Amino acid sequence: MNPDQLIRDEIRALTPYHVPEATGYVKLDAMENPYPLPEALRAEIAQLVAHTDINRYPDAEAVRLKARLRQTMGIGPEWDILLGNGSDELIQILAFAVARPGAIVLGLEPSFVMYRMIATFAGLRYVGVPLKPDFRLDREATLAAIRTHQPALVFIAYPNNPTGNLFDEATLLEILAAAPGLVVVDEAYHVFARKSVLPRLADYPNLLVMRTLSKLGLAGLRLGFLVGARAWLAELGKLRLPYNVNALTQVVAERVLGAMAVLEEQAACIREARGELFRALKALPGVEPYPSDANFILFRVPDAERTFEGLKRQGILIKNLNRAHPMLAGCLRVTVGTPEENGRFLHSLATCL
Ligand SMILES: *Cc1c(COP(=O)(O)O)cnc(C)c1O
Repeated sequence: MNPDQLIRDEIRALTPYHVPEATGYVKLDAMENPYPLPEALRAEIAQLVAHTDINRYPDAEAVRLKARLRQTMGIGPEWDILLGNGSDELIQILAFAVARPGAIVLGLEPSFVMYRMIATFAGLRYVGVPLKPDFRLDREATLAAIRTHQPALVFIAYPNNPTGNLFDEATLLEILAAAPGLVVVDEAYHVFARKSVLPRLADYPNLLVMRTLSKLGLAGLRLGFLVGARAWLAELGKLRLPYNVNALTQVVAERVLGAMAVLEEQAACIREARGELFRALKALPGVEPYPSDANFILFRVPDAERTFEGLKRQGILIKNLNRAHPMLAGCLRVTVGTPEENGRFLHSLATCL
């Protein structure tokens, strides 16, 4: 017996999700918030962690953390919240829940790679609908694919990763109305886009809104959440492994969300730096940046491999998307860092185009 005989073909065909070694680099590859928390808040967190009973299992329902999320994210009492170990875990729960034989997950292309990967984990068929060449929604193609494939689950990242744009809201609502199954709107970048379909939950009973604290500045904690009608989340919650959100994440996330103003201020700095970075990229000959509502910018260069490797040699790590999807040929993605990091990136970029 060897893996070829036992492991499913589609799993053996997968390439593992690759995380490059980043020690020593200016790290602009993973949409992390570059700013640390204020010293006083860090000291308070140290105290909270010191006094957490890690010999005990965490609160399985994370009651206090959920209450804090409701308050800071403006989630009304009519909606339920499901917490995940990152939103990746929630995507997995959603896929498992609908994984009947023949069921289909529909996503847009190019978009977040985990939708496709996790559909494969769960034994689902994945259908990707191409975006327009400028990365807007292809309304007709998307509605036609929904009619043809009758997907159990549709994932839409809003704003989209890796393209950075928000889709047209009216088209998004048409998709919600046309979809026969669940539509998950993934608002991982909400703090940078400040547009949400959360207020639409009451109008579309098949809508679930997903968010994460990762891009907000807490990537190391791993906390994502899904908001929607109780009837949906009651079923999805059955697939959640007990204690999926650990005690330290619960206590630290609750405290940091209590200082939401700090995170909001950091996000405002990042939004401002995004504008400056975009204008600087636009001014470089041969570089074509795409407008972004997130904390990263996708841009096209004449030779992506050369530029990516050149930046890496100069100690700057960004994301090479050249071979990720045919529509991303020549594309790189840079996370918006501190003004100093962005300056170093721009300076190096000019030397390796
Ligand atoms: C980064 C990202 C996520 C993953 O978030 P985690 O909560 O860290 O698992 C989900 N969706 C999109 C679109 C992302 O870009």
